[in-house]
Amino acid sequence: MNRIEGKVVAITGASSGIGEATAAHLAERGAIVVLGARRKERLVALAERIAAGGGKASYRVTDVKKRDDVTRLAQLAVERYGKLDVLISNAGIAPISPLDDLKVEDWEEMIDVNVKGVLYGIAAGLPIFRRQGFGHFIQTLSTAGLRIVPTMAVYAGSKNAVRAISEGLRQEAGEKLRVTTISPGYVRTELSPSMPAMAIPPTAIAEAIAFAIGQPDNVDVGEIVVRPTAQA
Ligand code: NDP
Repeated sequence: MNRIEGKVVAITGASSGIGEATAAHLAERGAIVVLGARRKERLVALAERIAAGGGKASYRVTDVKKRDDVTRLAQLAVERYGKLDVLISNAGIAPISPLDDLKVEDWEEMIDVNVKGVLYGIAAGLPIFRRQGFGHFIQTLSTAGLRIVPTMAVYAGSKNAVRAISEGLRQEAGEKLRVTTISPGYVRTELSPSMPAMAIPPTAIAEAIAFAIGQPDNVDVGEIVVRPTAQA
């Protein structure tokens, strides 16, 4: 049985990389995807590609730094398709640097997008999920939060903040909701121009996300780590 077919999945950061690959993969497996990101032309192109392949997709230009935008993205799913099964808070940025550089604006940006953006997702999704009596939060973290290395302190901190918040969410969520975090290692995307050659394709992450969504309702896949075998 394909437990992905017919599910309505909203996803932030759907205009490139992991979000784009995940949206395309889930749509191929019969999910209805609701795409959010800032670059409209990318969302339009992806929605058209999905429709051309026989899938269903909608989009809404979404800046996860704006709570209203994230709320409206989740609401779009409910208004158009009658429910929201999964909210994937995937949008993220990684302007990494040594702390000595004092790139405080970059630090703030990472907190705003990587942490507050996910909190806005929880604020948008939780009332809907409670009303429905079902729902699945999926957050994209990073192996940067598991093995802390120089230059990645703030990025890792932002991901580990979401790790803690997600565990708290899971414990409060009760038996009807599911909470999954996925920590990718190096993945070939637009995140960083200096991605090492060992990086794996974003479809590897998409397939792991599909695995979590495809479990029976009473099975909650908590934490997934997917990295290149060559990654230290
Ligand atoms: P990309 O840069 O390819 O994609 C990032 C996505 O986030 C884009 O769709 C971008 O869309 C969106 N985004 C950025 N800022 C905002 C914003 N303010 N509001 C809405 N959307 C935003 O990188 P990845 O696919 O690699 O990144 C996806 C997630 O995976 C991130 O959370 C990242 O931290 C995480 N990750 C990535 C790894 C990697 O090696 N690539 C490793 C570990 C984790 P737009 O610019 O159109 O808004």
